[in-house]
Amino acid sequence: MTKQIIKARWPLVIIIIVVVFYCSYINVFCYNPLASCFILVLLLSLFLISVLTLTLTAYQCDQIKVLEPNSGIPCRLPADQTPMFVYFTFDDAVTSSNIGYYRRLFGKGHTNPNGCPVRATFFNSHQNTDYNLVSSLFQEGHELASHSVSHRSPSTWWEHNATAQDWFDEIVGQRENIARNTGGLVPIEKIKGMRSPFLALGGDKQFDMLEENDFVYDSSIAYNSESPTWPFTLNKPAAMNGPICRSAFCPQSPHALWEVVMNVYYQDYPSTTRPCSMVDGCRPDSGRQGAKNFLWKNFRRHYEHRHKVPFGVNMHAAWFSYEGYLDAMDDFMTALLDLPDVYIVPVMTLLEWIQQPLSLEDMKQSPLGCNANAS
Ligand SMILES: [Zn+2]
Repeated sequence: MTKQIIKARWPLVIIIIVVVFYCSYINVFCYNPLASCFILVLLLSLFLISVLTLTLTAYQCDQIKVLEPNSGIPCRLPADQTPMFVYFTFDDAVTSSNIGYYRRLFGKGHTNPNGCPVRATFFNSHQNTDYNLVSSLFQEGHELASHSVSHRSPSTWWEHNATAQDWFDEIVGQRENIARNTGGLVPIEKIKGMRSPFLALGGDKQFDMLEENDFVYDSSIAYNSESPTWPFTLNKPAAMNGPICRSAFCPQSPHALWEVVMNVYYQDYPSTTRPCSMVDGCRPDSGRQGAKNFLWKNFRRHYEHRHKVPFGVNMHAAWFSYEGYLDAMDDFMTALLDLPDVYIVPVMTLLEWIQQPLSLEDMKQSPLGCNANAS
Protein backbone atom coordinates (compact mmCIF):
# COMPACT_ATOMS: atom_id res chain seq x y z
CA MET A 1 0.00 0.00 0.00
CA THR A 2 1.22 3.13 1.26
CA LYS A 3 4.34 3.08 -0.84
CA GLN A 4 3.50 6.55 -2.08
CA ILE A 5 2.71 7.83 1.39
CA ILE A 6 6.05 6.60 2.66
CA LYS A 7 7.81 8.02 -0.35
CA ALA A 8 6.00 11.32 0.24
CA ARG A 9 7.15 11.49 3.89
CA TRP A 10 10.82 10.69 3.31
CA PRO A 11 11.80 13.98 1.66
CA LEU A 12 10.08 15.83 4.50
CA VAL A 13 12.12 13.97 7.10
CA ILE A 14 15.36 14.59 5.21
CA ILE A 15 14.59 18.27 4.72
CA ILE A 16 13.85 18.74 8.43
CA ILE A 17 17.12 17.06 9.39
CA VAL A 18 19.19 19.11 6.93
CA VAL A 19 17.61 22.39 8.03
CA VAL A 20 18.00 21.64 11.74
CA PHE A 21 21.60 20.54 11.24
CA TYR A 22 22.48 23.61 9.21
CA CYS A 23 20.94 25.97 11.75
CA SER A 24 22.64 24.29 14.68
CA TYR A 25 26.01 24.30 12.89
CA ILE A 26 25.82 28.00 12.18
CA ASN A 27 24.63 28.94 15.66
CA VAL A 28 26.42 26.56 17.94
CA PHE A 29 29.28 24.57 16.46
CA CYS A 30 31.72 27.44 16.20
CA TYR A 31 31.13 28.52 19.79
CA ASN A 32 30.30 25.41 21.79
CA PRO A 33 31.60 21.95 20.75
CA LEU A 34 29.80 20.19 23.66
CA ALA A 35 26.43 21.59 22.61
CA SER A 36 27.07 20.62 19.00
CA CYS A 37 27.80 17.07 20.09
CA PHE A 38 24.51 17.01 22.02
CA ILE A 39 22.60 18.29 18.97
CA LEU A 40 24.19 15.66 16.75
CA VAL A 41 23.03 12.91 19.11
CA LEU A 42 19.55 14.48 19.18
CA LEU A 43 19.41 14.58 15.37
CA LEU A 44 20.49 10.98 15.12
CA SER A 45 17.76 9.93 17.56
CA LEU A 46 15.16 11.90 15.59
CA PHE A 47 16.30 10.17 12.43
CA LEU A 48 16.00 6.72 14.02
CA ILE A 49 12.55 7.49 15.45
CA SER A 50 11.39 8.62 11.99
CA VAL A 51 12.62 5.41 10.39
CA LEU A 52 10.94 3.30 13.07
CA THR A 53 7.65 5.22 12.78
CA LEU A 54 7.55 4.87 9.02
CA THR A 55 8.36 1.16 9.18
CA LEU A 56 5.71 0.59 11.84
CA THR A 57 3.11 2.50 9.82
CA ALA A 58 3.82 0.35 6.78
CA TYR A 59 3.62 -2.78 8.91
CA GLN A 60 0.28 -1.82 10.48
CA CYS A 61 -1.19 -0.91 7.12
CA ASP A 62 -0.57 -4.37 5.79
CA GLN A 63 -2.69 -6.14 8.38
CA ILE A 64 -5.44 -4.07 9.93
CA LYS A 65 -7.31 -6.38 12.31
CA VAL A 66 -8.78 -3.77 14.61
CA LEU A 67 -10.45 -0.48 13.73
CA GLU A 68 -12.43 1.75 16.06
CA PRO A 69 -15.58 3.63 15.02
CA ASN A 70 -15.02 7.18 13.78
CA SER A 71 -11.27 6.65 13.57
CA GLY A 72 -10.97 7.98 10.04
CA ILE A 73 -9.58 6.47 6.88
CA PRO A 74 -7.75 3.18 7.55
CA CYS A 75 -4.00 3.56 7.55
CA ARG A 76 -4.46 7.35 7.73
CA LEU A 77 -4.48 7.42 3.97
CA PRO A 78 -5.11 10.98 2.71
CA ALA A 79 -8.63 11.40 1.32
CA ASP A 80 -7.34 12.36 -2.13
CA GLN A 81 -5.47 9.05 -2.33
CA THR A 82 -8.39 6.95 -1.06
CA PRO A 83 -10.87 5.19 -3.35
CA MET A 84 -14.50 6.25 -2.83
CA PHE A 85 -16.29 2.97 -2.12
CA VAL A 86 -19.98 2.46 -2.78
CA TYR A 87 -21.63 -0.85 -1.90
CA PHE A 88 -25.13 -1.96 -2.83
CA THR A 89 -26.92 -4.42 -0.54
CA PHE A 90 -30.31 -5.98 -1.31
CA ASP A 91 -32.29 -7.79 1.41
CA ASP A 92 -34.74 -10.72 1.39
CA ALA A 93 -35.73 -13.32 -1.20
CA VAL A 94 -34.29 -13.36 -4.73
CA THR A 95 -37.27 -14.00 -7.00
CA SER A 96 -38.37 -13.79 -10.61
CA SER A 97 -40.17 -10.55 -9.63
CA ASN A 98 -37.05 -8.68 -8.50
CA ILE A 99 -34.24 -10.26 -10.56
CA GLY A 100 -35.04 -7.91 -13.46
CA TYR A 101 -34.13 -4.88 -11.36
CA TYR A 102 -30.73 -6.36 -10.53
CA ARG A 103 -30.10 -7.38 -14.13
CA ARG A 104 -30.88 -3.88 -15.32
CA LEU A 105 -28.52 -2.21 -12.82
CA PHE A 106 -25.65 -4.71 -12.94
CA GLY A 107 -26.02 -6.33 -16.36
CA LYS A 108 -24.55 -3.55 -18.45
CA GLY A 109 -20.92 -4.50 -18.16
CA HIS A 110 -20.09 -1.49 -15.98
CA THR A 111 -16.58 -1.71 -14.55
CA ASN A 112 -14.62 0.04 -11.82
CA PRO A 113 -11.48 2.07 -12.64
CA ASN A 114 -9.34 -1.09 -12.19
CA GLY A 115 -11.40 -2.91 -14.84
CA CYS A 116 -13.20 -5.22 -12.38
CA PRO A 117 -16.98 -5.57 -12.75
CA VAL A 118 -19.40 -3.60 -10.60
CA ARG A 119 -21.11 -6.02 -8.16
CA ALA A 120 -23.45 -6.11 -5.13
CA THR A 121 -24.19 -8.05 -1.92
CA PHE A 122 -27.44 -9.98 -1.41
CA PHE A 123 -28.65 -10.61 2.16
CA ASN A 124 -30.77 -13.59 1.29
CA SER A 125 -33.69 -15.14 3.21
CA HIS A 126 -35.19 -18.53 2.35
CA GLN A 127 -38.92 -17.96 1.92
CA ASN A 128 -39.77 -17.55 -1.81
CA THR A 129 -36.13 -17.53 -2.91
CA ASP A 130 -35.41 -19.03 -6.33
CA TYR A 131 -32.02 -20.67 -5.84
CA ASN A 132 -31.40 -20.95 -9.58
CA LEU A 133 -31.34 -17.17 -9.63
CA VAL A 134 -29.09 -17.15 -6.56
CA SER A 135 -26.69 -19.45 -8.46
CA SER A 136 -26.58 -17.14 -11.44
CA LEU A 137 -26.02 -14.04 -9.26
CA PHE A 138 -23.08 -15.82 -7.62
CA GLN A 139 -21.65 -16.89 -10.97
CA GLU A 140 -21.82 -13.27 -12.10
CA GLY A 141 -19.63 -12.32 -9.12
CA HIS A 142 -22.16 -10.98 -6.61
CA GLU A 143 -21.75 -11.74 -2.91
CA LEU A 144 -24.28 -13.84 -0.98
CA ALA A 145 -24.89 -13.32 2.73
CA SER A 146 -27.37 -14.68 5.28
CA HIS A 147 -30.60 -12.90 6.24
CA SER A 148 -32.26 -15.84 8.12
CA VAL A 149 -34.37 -18.81 7.11
CA SER A 150 -37.80 -17.72 8.34
CA HIS A 151 -37.57 -13.91 8.50
CA ARG A 152 -40.35 -14.35 11.03
CA SER A 153 -42.39 -11.56 12.58
CA PRO A 154 -42.61 -9.71 14.87
CA SER A 155 -39.23 -8.00 15.10
CA THR A 156 -39.39 -8.26 18.90
CA TRP A 157 -39.13 -12.08 18.63
CA TRP A 158 -35.53 -11.65 17.46
CA GLU A 159 -34.73 -9.34 20.33
CA HIS A 160 -36.56 -10.97 23.23
CA ASN A 161 -37.36 -14.57 22.37
CA ALA A 162 -34.75 -15.95 19.98
CA THR A 163 -32.37 -18.28 21.83
CA ALA A 164 -28.75 -18.95 20.89
CA GLN A 165 -30.00 -22.08 19.11
CA ASP A 166 -32.61 -20.03 17.21
CA TRP A 167 -29.93 -17.61 16.00
CA PHE A 168 -27.84 -20.58 14.87
CA ASP A 169 -30.76 -22.25 13.09
CA GLU A 170 -31.78 -19.05 11.34
CA ILE A 171 -28.45 -17.58 10.24
CA VAL A 172 -26.15 -20.60 9.90
CA GLY A 173 -29.22 -22.49 8.63
CA GLN A 174 -29.69 -20.02 5.78
CA ARG A 175 -26.00 -20.23 4.90
CA GLU A 176 -26.47 -23.99 4.59
CA ASN A 177 -29.68 -23.53 2.57
CA ILE A 178 -27.84 -21.39 0.05
CA ALA A 179 -25.00 -23.91 -0.28
CA ARG A 180 -27.30 -26.95 -0.51
CA ASN A 181 -29.92 -25.45 -2.82
CA THR A 182 -27.31 -24.20 -5.27
CA GLY A 183 -25.86 -27.71 -5.41
CA GLY A 184 -22.67 -26.54 -3.68
CA LEU A 185 -22.02 -23.87 -6.32
CA VAL A 186 -22.04 -21.29 -3.52
CA PRO A 187 -19.67 -22.78 -0.94
CA ILE A 188 -20.36 -22.18 2.73
CA GLU A 189 -16.98 -20.48 3.19
CA LYS A 190 -17.93 -17.78 0.66
CA ILE A 191 -20.90 -16.68 2.80
CA LYS A 192 -19.26 -14.45 5.37
CA GLY A 193 -21.81 -11.86 6.39
CA MET A 194 -25.27 -11.45 7.88
CA ARG A 195 -28.02 -8.91 8.36
CA SER A 196 -30.78 -9.58 10.86
CA PRO A 197 -34.44 -9.35 9.85
CA PHE A 198 -35.91 -5.89 10.63
CA LEU A 199 -32.38 -4.92 11.81
CA ALA A 200 -33.41 -6.44 15.16
CA LEU A 201 -30.37 -7.24 17.26
CA GLY A 202 -29.97 -10.26 19.52
CA GLY A 203 -27.16 -9.13 21.82
CA ASP A 204 -24.27 -11.48 22.46
CA LYS A 205 -26.34 -14.51 21.41
CA GLN A 206 -26.31 -13.18 17.84
CA PHE A 207 -22.68 -12.09 17.78
CA ASP A 208 -21.33 -15.21 19.58
CA MET A 209 -23.11 -17.33 16.96
CA LEU A 210 -21.40 -15.38 14.15
CA GLU A 211 -17.97 -15.63 15.70
CA GLU A 212 -18.27 -19.32 16.55
CA ASN A 213 -19.30 -20.13 12.99
CA ASP A 214 -16.54 -18.21 11.19
CA PHE A 215 -18.58 -15.32 9.87
CA VAL A 216 -16.56 -12.18 9.16
CA TYR A 217 -19.11 -9.40 9.54
CA ASP A 218 -22.53 -8.23 10.63
CA SER A 219 -24.42 -5.40 8.97
CA SER A 220 -27.47 -4.82 11.14
CA ILE A 221 -26.62 -1.76 13.25
CA ALA A 222 -28.05 1.55 12.05
CA TYR A 223 -26.05 4.67 12.91
CA ASN A 224 -28.03 7.89 13.12
CA SER A 225 -25.48 10.64 12.67
CA GLU A 226 -24.88 13.36 10.12
CA SER A 227 -21.23 12.37 10.28
CA PRO A 228 -21.02 8.78 9.02
CA THR A 229 -18.37 6.26 10.02
CA TRP A 230 -16.29 3.59 8.27
CA PRO A 231 -16.94 -0.08 9.14
CA PHE A 232 -15.22 -1.01 12.40
CA THR A 233 -14.38 -4.02 14.54
CA LEU A 234 -16.40 -5.15 17.55
CA ASN A 235 -13.40 -5.64 19.83
CA LYS A 236 -14.59 -2.85 22.16
CA PRO A 237 -18.40 -2.82 22.02
CA ALA A 238 -18.68 -0.67 25.15
CA ALA A 239 -17.23 2.26 23.18
CA MET A 240 -19.87 1.81 20.49
CA ASN A 241 -22.92 1.25 22.67
CA GLY A 242 -24.67 4.55 23.17
CA PRO A 243 -23.02 6.78 20.59
CA ILE A 244 -23.58 4.33 17.71
CA CYS A 245 -25.61 1.29 18.73
CA ARG A 246 -28.70 2.53 20.55
CA SER A 247 -30.65 -0.71 20.85
CA ALA A 248 -31.07 -2.47 24.19
CA PHE A 249 -29.73 -5.58 22.38
CA CYS A 250 -26.31 -4.38 21.23
CA PRO A 251 -23.36 -6.76 21.67
CA GLN A 252 -21.81 -6.43 25.12
CA SER A 253 -18.74 -8.68 24.91
CA PRO A 254 -15.81 -8.17 22.53
CA HIS A 255 -16.09 -10.08 19.26
CA ALA A 256 -13.61 -10.75 16.47
CA LEU A 257 -16.07 -9.45 13.87
CA TRP A 258 -16.49 -6.45 11.59
CA GLU A 259 -19.56 -4.25 11.83
CA VAL A 260 -20.48 -2.79 8.46
CA VAL A 261 -22.57 -0.13 10.12
CA MET A 262 -25.62 1.20 8.30
CA ASN A 263 -25.16 4.98 8.19
CA VAL A 264 -28.62 6.54 7.85
CA TYR A 265 -30.09 8.54 4.93
CA TYR A 266 -31.86 11.88 5.05
CA GLN A 267 -34.83 12.35 2.80
CA ASP A 268 -34.07 15.97 2.00
CA TYR A 269 -30.77 16.63 3.69
CA PRO A 270 -30.16 19.01 5.41
CA SER A 271 -33.43 18.07 6.95
CA THR A 272 -35.62 17.93 9.98
CA THR A 273 -37.45 14.80 8.81
CA ARG A 274 -36.77 11.43 10.36
CA PRO A 275 -33.72 9.70 8.86
CA CYS A 276 -34.07 6.28 7.16
CA SER A 277 -31.97 3.23 8.02
CA MET A 278 -32.56 1.86 4.53
CA VAL A 279 -33.00 3.64 1.21
CA ASP A 280 -36.58 2.39 0.89
CA GLY A 281 -37.45 3.91 4.25
CA CYS A 282 -37.34 7.25 2.41
CA ARG A 283 -39.91 8.17 -0.29
CA PRO A 284 -38.61 11.25 -2.08
CA ASP A 285 -41.16 13.30 -4.01
CA SER A 286 -41.17 14.09 -7.73
CA GLY A 287 -40.28 10.69 -9.18
CA ARG A 288 -37.06 10.10 -11.06
CA GLN A 289 -35.46 13.48 -10.47
CA GLY A 290 -36.44 13.62 -6.79
CA ALA A 291 -35.14 10.11 -6.16
CA LYS A 292 -31.88 10.84 -7.95
CA ASN A 293 -31.39 14.05 -5.95
CA PHE A 294 -32.05 12.11 -2.74
CA LEU A 295 -29.40 9.49 -3.61
CA TRP A 296 -26.89 12.05 -4.82
CA LYS A 297 -27.16 14.34 -1.78
CA ASN A 298 -26.69 11.44 0.62
CA PHE A 299 -23.76 10.14 -1.41
CA ARG A 300 -22.11 13.56 -1.36
CA ARG A 301 -22.34 13.68 2.42
CA HIS A 302 -20.00 10.67 2.39
CA TYR A 303 -17.89 11.66 -0.62
CA GLU A 304 -17.16 15.13 0.71
CA HIS A 305 -16.66 13.98 4.28
CA ARG A 306 -13.06 14.54 5.41
CA HIS A 307 -12.77 10.77 5.92
CA LYS A 308 -14.34 9.84 2.56
CA VAL A 309 -16.64 7.32 4.25
CA PRO A 310 -17.88 4.43 2.06
CA PHE A 311 -21.50 4.87 0.96
CA GLY A 312 -23.80 1.88 1.41
CA VAL A 313 -26.95 1.69 -0.71
CA ASN A 314 -28.85 -0.63 1.66
CA MET A 315 -32.31 -1.45 0.37
CA HIS A 316 -35.16 -3.74 -0.65
CA ALA A 317 -36.07 -4.10 -4.32
CA ALA A 318 -39.65 -2.98 -3.56
CA TRP A 319 -38.40 0.63 -3.74
CA PHE A 320 -37.99 0.20 -7.50
CA SER A 321 -41.73 -0.31 -7.96
CA TYR A 322 -42.32 3.43 -7.43
CA GLU A 323 -42.49 5.32 -10.69
CA GLY A 324 -39.13 6.62 -11.82
CA TYR A 325 -37.11 5.18 -8.94
CA LEU A 326 -35.40 2.41 -10.97
CA ASP A 327 -34.45 4.97 -13.63
CA ALA A 328 -33.17 7.19 -10.82
CA MET A 329 -30.94 4.41 -9.49
CA ASP A 330 -29.66 3.71 -12.99
CA ASP A 331 -28.87 7.42 -13.46
CA PHE A 332 -27.20 7.48 -10.05
CA MET A 333 -24.95 4.50 -10.87
CA THR A 334 -23.96 6.01 -14.20
CA ALA A 335 -23.12 9.32 -12.51
CA LEU A 336 -21.09 7.49 -9.84
CA LEU A 337 -19.03 5.67 -12.45
CA ASP A 338 -18.22 8.97 -14.17
CA LEU A 339 -16.19 9.85 -11.07
CA PRO A 340 -12.58 8.66 -11.41
CA ASP A 341 -12.22 7.47 -7.81
CA VAL A 342 -15.50 5.57 -7.29
CA TYR A 343 -15.42 1.79 -6.81
CA ILE A 344 -18.72 -0.12 -6.55
CA VAL A 345 -17.90 -3.36 -4.77
CA PRO A 346 -19.52 -6.08 -2.62
CA VAL A 347 -19.16 -5.71 1.15
CA MET A 348 -16.46 -8.39 1.45
CA THR A 349 -14.31 -6.66 -1.16
CA LEU A 350 -14.57 -3.43 0.85
CA LEU A 351 -13.52 -5.30 4.01
CA GLU A 352 -10.55 -6.84 2.18
CA TRP A 353 -9.45 -3.34 1.17
CA ILE A 354 -9.89 -2.00 4.71
CA GLN A 355 -7.65 -4.77 6.08
CA GLN A 356 -4.98 -4.02 3.50
CA PRO A 357 -5.58 -0.53 2.10
CA LEU A 358 -4.38 0.44 -1.36
CA SER A 359 -3.97 4.00 -2.55
CA LEU A 360 -5.99 5.09 -5.58
CA GLU A 361 -2.92 4.68 -7.78
CA ASP A 362 -2.12 1.18 -6.46
CA MET A 363 -5.79 0.22 -6.67
CA LYS A 364 -5.80 0.79 -10.44
CA GLN A 365 -3.17 -1.92 -10.83
CA SER A 366 -4.88 -4.27 -8.37
CA PRO A 367 -7.27 -7.10 -9.28
CA LEU A 368 -9.24 -6.46 -6.06
CA GLY A 369 -12.89 -7.33 -6.77
CA CYS A 370 -12.22 -8.99 -10.14
CA ASN A 371 -12.72 -12.62 -9.20
CA ALA A 372 -14.53 -12.37 -5.90
CA ASN A 373 -16.22 -15.75 -6.28
CA ALA A 374 -13.47 -17.71 -7.99
CA SER A 375 -12.60 -20.87 -6.12
ZN1 LIG B 1 -35.51 -8.48 5.46
